[in-house]
Amino acid sequence: MTLLIENGRVITASDDYVADVYCEGGRVSAIGAQLASRVRAERTIDARGKYVLPGGIDVHTHLDMPFGGTTSTDDFETGTIAAAFGGTTSLVDFAIQYRGQTMRHALDAWMEKASGKAVIDYSFHMILTELPDAGLGDMDVMVRDEGVTSFKLFMAYPGVFMVDDATIFRALRRTGENGGLVCMHAENGGVIDLLVQEALRRGEKAPKYHALTRPPRAEGEATGRAIALAEMAGVPIYIVHLSSADALRKVREARDMGLPAFAETCPQYLFLSYDNYEEPGFEGAKYVMSPPLREKWHQDVLWKGLAKDDLQVISTDHCPFCMAGQKELGADDFSKIPNGAPGIETRLTLVHNGGVRKGRISLNRFVELCSTTPARMFGLFPRKGTIAVGSDADIVVFDPEKHQTLGVKSLHMRVDYNPYEGTVVHGAPTHVISRGNVVIENDRFVGKRGAGQFVKRGPSLAREL
Ligand SMILES: [Zn+2]
Repeated sequence: MTLLIENGRVITASDDYVADVYCEGGRVSAIGAQLASRVRAERTIDARGKYVLPGGIDVHTHLDMPFGGTTSTDDFETGTIAAAFGGTTSLVDFAIQYRGQTMRHALDAWMEKASGKAVIDYSFHMILTELPDAGLGDMDVMVRDEGVTSFKLFMAYPGVFMVDDATIFRALRRTGENGGLVCMHAENGGVIDLLVQEALRRGEKAPKYHALTRPPRAEGEATGRAIALAEMAGVPIYIVHLSSADALRKVREARDMGLPAFAETCPQYLFLSYDNYEEPGFEGAKYVMSPPLREKWHQDVLWKGLAKDDLQVISTDHCPFCMAGQKELGADDFSKIPNGAPGIETRLTLVHNGGVRKGRISLNRFVELCSTTPARMFGLFPRKGTIAVGSDADIVVFDPEKHQTLGVKSLHMRVDYNPYEGTVVHGAPTHVISRGNVVIENDRFVGKRGAGQFVKRGPSLAREL
């Protein structure tokens, strides 16, 4: 399939110019003016007045993931279709190595979940829940042979995912040898667990107590500790879903000292707040996620962090559970509400609307945060994350003026509520292209189930960022 995208405003992390983009064999093969006179395209898209962006890359999703006695509702088909509707053309999900199992087993299990279903390209981080001596060699195999070049560890969820500092330190040190990157869920799980038990004993069982038992300080402490462990190991570290000013301060201090500390935040921390937990009845359960939503003033601090490069990536932590049958497992006890919320489809439009249009970040920065740096950080660049000759033709034609009302009816995620229900946003994709094939066109999915490919990632470029 050959495709010509004409007259669009091509925007990368560094450039902004009007040009035609010609795609052939799944890749960009020419960029220039008046290409129609030089190439023969089977398909032409007129992008006049629109942005031509590198496809979004979401490096934090949980599709088809067992958690809290249930499973996230989007699988690799519904989740990747929703992602594509929102202009995301690659994602990095998480395979989970449960205790007693090997990384190989985990990778096989998640490959099985995705293959034949995903409609856009995908890759995996490896979640480690333990790291015996034998596992150290397995880390090397993942990085060297399997293209799984990042590992996630948890400082929270004791008894489920949490590992101790020695385990974290061992994993970090090993990445110094094999070129991998450690991603950290940074919340002090021990303190939080104690606060949760005390709250429950006092009869505090409503959803808002989820937030009140996970204070920003618990995130700040763990973030600082994670960075210190990485400093001792002499390696970069990447903090996932950073939500608070407390945690951001630790990252900023480390970066000011010249340490390779990096962090992502997510739209929910930029647009929602603790106030959502005060919604009537059990509605607050919609927003039960970890870390929790913070008081509203944290949002401004996070936006500043994004603008000043103390935060480098916006991901979603998409982990949808329905209110009916899933969130309601915690109707009488907030600690039993499955943690997570939907977001895979709304990232670009929310960040464009609330970030670019409000003047908080530039268009180039928008692309950098949502595509280019994720690609660099996780070994997908320059195959993905930019529009350049030779790069995969993962492209979004984005109409900055298109209106969209966010909500369950208009969106495609397989979940019975939306955290932004009724919100009107400006700017949305009109065409989404995955390796040269149009997958979304005029609000319709026209791609193919199973067309998404597993991408073996190279080493992180964090050491050069
Ligand atoms: Zn997550």
